[in-house]
Formats: sequence, C-alpha cells, structure tokens
Amino acid sequence: MARPVRILDNALEAVGYTPLVRLDKIAQAEGLQCNLLGKVEYTSAGGSVKDRIAKRMVEQAEKEGKLIPGQSVVIEPTSGNTGIGLAMACAVKGYSVIITMPHKMSLEKEAALRALGAEVVRTPTEAAWDSPESHIGVAQKLQRQIPGGIILDQYRNVNNPLAHELTTGPEIIDAVVATPSTGLKPSSGLVDVMVAGAGTGGTITGISRAIKKTHNSKCAVVGVDPKGSILALPNELNRDGEGELYIVEGIGYDFVPDVLSRDPGTVDYWIKTGDEESFEAVRKLMRLEGLLVGGSSGSALSGALRWLKSDEGKRYGQTKGVNVVVLLPDGIRNYMSKPWFLKMALEAEPSSLAKQISAILQDS
Ligand code: PMP
Repeated sequence: MARPVRILDNALEAVGYTPLVRLDKIAQAEGLQCNLLGKVEYTSAGGSVKDRIAKRMVEQAEKEGKLIPGQSVVIEPTSGNTGIGLAMACAVKGYSVIITMPHKMSLEKEAALRALGAEVVRTPTEAAWDSPESHIGVAQKLQRQIPGGIILDQYRNVNNPLAHELTTGPEIIDAVVATPSTGLKPSSGLVDVMVAGAGTGGTITGISRAIKKTHNSKCAVVGVDPKGSILALPNELNRDGEGELYIVEGIGYDFVPDVLSRDPGTVDYWIKTGDEESFEAVRKLMRLEGLLVGGSSGSALSGALRWLKSDEGKRYGQTKGVNVVVLLPDGIRNYMSKPWFLKMALEAEPSSLAKQISAILQDS
C-alpha cells in the first residue's frame, strides 16, 4: 500500500500511507532484542491516525445518500483529531462542520479546526458521557435542532474500525513483509506484536482484525488505556487511578464505545499508563529517534515497553527478529502550547553545549 506517484486530486488522497520506522536507539537503551517499530501517523494529511476514519465515514455516507452537498451539516463529538480529519474532508467537499470537544483538548486543535472552517463548541471535561452537557450530549442537541445536521458517530460507525482494517493494518503488514531479514537486521517476516492506545477503539480493533484475519492469527495485540479510564480488561486493571483526570488527549473514556465492545477478542492484553511515563516516552521518541509525536504516542510506547518486560511479553522482547509495532497516533503540532510539552522543551537542564555557548557569549 504505497502512496500513488502522480498528481493527487486533493488533500484527501494524502491521507494515510504513513511510514513504519525502526526505533533502534530506544530498543537498545531498553535492552530489547526485538525490532521495535513505530507507525508514524502524523505524516498523514491532517496530522493524525483519525484522518483515515474521517475520510471513510464521509465517503461512505455520501455513497449511502446520507450527506447531501449544500444541505448537510456534519456534527461530531471528538477529542479533536477526528474533527480535524472531518473538517479537512468537509473543506475539500464543501460541507459545513460543527465539532464538539471537551475543554481539556488543546488550543492547537481548536485553531486547526477553525482554520479549516469548522465551528467549535467546547464542553466541560468532567461531564459524564451520557449527560446533556458532554461533548456527545451537546452534539446530539445540535443535531436535533440544526436542519441537515448529521452525526457520523465514530463511537458506533463500522467505517471507523473498517478504515483501519482496510488501510492502517495492511500498510503495517506490507511494510513488514517487504523488508528482508538480514544478518544485521533479522526479521520474522511477521507482525508479532501490535501495540496501540484506545479511544473509540477503532484503531486497535481494525488493525487487529487485519493482522489476525489475513496475516498472523497468533499476533499479540496489546491495548493501552490511561489510568482514570475504564477501557482495559479485565476490569480490575481499571482500579489503578480510578476516577482520576489525566492530561494525555485522545485515549481513554468513561464509557466503553460500541466500536470496542462489539469486537471482544481483538485485544489480547491491556496495559494502563500514567501521564508522566507517557511524556517521558514522548521525550525519548523526540530525542533518540527524531520523531515529533504527541502525548498518546508516548503512552503507546510506554505501554509497549512495560509489556515487553512483563511475564507475558518478555519472550517477545528478548527474541531477535520479533517485530513489535507501536502505533504513534499524532504529532506535537497538536500540543505545542501545553505545559507538559513546554516544560520538556524549554525547561530541560542545560546541556554541556548550552553551558559552553553561555560561557562563550559571556566572554565576548
Ligand atoms: N491518540 C490520539 C491523539 C487520538 O486523537 C485518538 C483518537 N481519539 C487515539 C489516540 C485513539 O484512537 P481510536 O479512537 O481509534 O481508539
């Protein structure tokens, strides 16, 4: 699944086709023998893994006659990235868009949404999902009252997981299969472990289906869920940090979306992650691998590293040639003004080179 080499008709043709990149320096620093690989979704046209579902949900709704040019108003509750994908698709196709989004989500996402022409309504972060004030409740209220209003509903829409089953999953499989095993870089030729965070669960269930159905039924699929969310199974795992608010955006919920609950068995193991370890992993991805990823990418990496050291995971982590793919959902563009990022970028201990620069400049 390579990006077509020709003039693209519009930005939607530049959705997906993202690179799978070796994370060798992190693997080495962590004492891993396996191949640690990152699926880098920020290179997609709208900047995240969610572009894929936005494109597919809009195109399928058009095919089914549910979206009518000049009449339909696309309304969607989202943590922002699905909104950006939808706003991009609707800019290209000429639909109006309203995005409802909890306050916690970054100003950068709101700015990108407004720049693409979307209306943005902020909702209280603490509102329970089924309350009228939540991003879901407000979207439903608007849909009832705005003529032509339609919610494509990423939490239920089959085209959410299907977009990943048909694009993200096959891209990962193709990249692994196409890369030869060599003495220096041995490979099993299979996706042996797949790690991804879950929000709606579309990414992890869709990719898992693609891999397990068409490529490697034994692939270990590991879901990552932040402390304070309730998506992990078995349920006891969710006691750790129960009810806590967390800063990482885009993963975790206070309800189990249909997309995830109707596809049990696609995720084999769950890991709970905290904010601090996630941001520390973002720093590693930037400093060691040069990848400008967002917070949930750190969660995915941190979850992967912990799983690869667990009783179930260590035989994978310590075997040469085993391919472990970690999905990195978005980029730092979305979080540039967030305190966690500014602290990491601007308040780090001065390096020896920084001290040398100061000394030189003070002397002169
Ligand atoms: N990370 C980020 C930054 C996201 O925006 C999302 C989507 N909410 C996810 C991870 C999780 O993706 P999914 O909804 O497919 O589970």
